[in-house]
Amino acid sequence: MKYFSLSNHSIQASFKDAVIQGLAPDRGLFFPESITPLSKDFMDSIEQYSNHEIAFEAIKQFVGDEIPSDVLKEIIQETLTFEFPVVPISDQISTLELFHGPTMAFKDVGAKFMAKCLEYFNSESDDHVTVLVATSGDTGGAVANGFLGTKGVDVVILYPSGKVSDIQEKQLTTLGQNITALEVNGVFDDCQDMVKTAFLDGGIPKKLTSANSINIARWLPQMFYFFFAYKQLKSTGKEIVFSVPSGNFGNICAGFMAQKLGLPVKTLVASTNVNDTVPNFLASGEYDVQPSIATISNAMDVSDPSNFIRIQQLFNNDFNRLKEHLASFSFSDELTRKAMIEIFENSDYIADPHGAVGYLGLKEFNLNSNQIGVFLETAHPVKFLPVVEKTLNVNVAIPSQIEKVMNKEKKSIHISTYEDLKGYLNS
Ligand SMILES: *Cc1c(COP(=O)(O)O)cnc(C)c1O
Repeated sequence: MKYFSLSNHSIQASFKDAVIQGLAPDRGLFFPESITPLSKDFMDSIEQYSNHEIAFEAIKQFVGDEIPSDVLKEIIQETLTFEFPVVPISDQISTLELFHGPTMAFKDVGAKFMAKCLEYFNSESDDHVTVLVATSGDTGGAVANGFLGTKGVDVVILYPSGKVSDIQEKQLTTLGQNITALEVNGVFDDCQDMVKTAFLDGGIPKKLTSANSINIARWLPQMFYFFFAYKQLKSTGKEIVFSVPSGNFGNICAGFMAQKLGLPVKTLVASTNVNDTVPNFLASGEYDVQPSIATISNAMDVSDPSNFIRIQQLFNNDFNRLKEHLASFSFSDELTRKAMIEIFENSDYIADPHGAVGYLGLKEFNLNSNQIGVFLETAHPVKFLPVVEKTLNVNVAIPSQIEKVMNKEKKSIHISTYEDLKGYLNS
């Protein structure tokens, strides 16, 4: 499969090169040259297939012959080691729980899949790749866990000192081996800027790649979730409306890829916090980026979502067609807390702030009686413990995979400037 750069369509790369490079040389995002729908027979009998089989069918055309089928099947098996249950919240609303993986956020799937692809490509050569990633919380942990011990790959994670939760910090600073955590005196944007500068800096002799959702191997496997939910809800005969708590819009963009592959969904709802560039764009036609605002759903504090350009490409940059299939609403922290309380009181379910934003999106969308709403629960509430416990006045039990890291010793290297980062990378 060939990929082209969305900034310059004549720049092309194979799957392998697109994964290793992360971004195209002109800084554009890679996009697949063609998307072939899955057969109607397959979609009609999806409940007869295992999750591993569904994932293989969904992703195989995007990998092409660059990874042999048997190896790709193994990669999927090593990636999907947990369940993706749909849990009813009310008559018309359910949640798709994506947090049963090792770091309890949905990013585990993409991180592991990408790590295994890089490992396969490196097994054919002695090349060394350095994955450089900035995190506001969840990405760091998922990438650290997904890439731990991956041959030929070093991982460098930049995170803002004092700005991630205790659990998130432990998840990215305690693993050791090929994972290094750089603790930056600054905010998330400083981390992100340093990473971007490093990618543009010709003076770093290492091969650098990104493990954010701009990387196709992190982005594409997220399609699987939407098929898994459909498989569980198909027998209801209802049209599914997904609400996706969105920050960088990678997850919802994967949902639109699933739609392109033939998943029978009409509309997806992008639910955001007050970082509302996309909801405003749909309402006014103007894409106006304001500085990002800190919220209690901090994994979505993104004001210029990288993947939105891919969604526009999927609709041939046709604003009206996009609006037929994408609804988008934004919600304040106050409304988010109220939703968490409502879900808890009505359904005895503890949603994390991101899931609660997704729930609000479905309420705002106003489902009709032929529709069933599914919001993605993108992280376990334990990852946002102080907010959840304070808002709901409950104690959340600490799951074993979190408890395991809580007792480990934090190891990080403090840095303050880009020169510090460059010094580390060149040492
Ligand atoms: C990353 C993340 C999101 C946002 O996903 P995008 O693909 O960036 O839109 C939402 N919720 C949680 C918990 C996350 O970690």
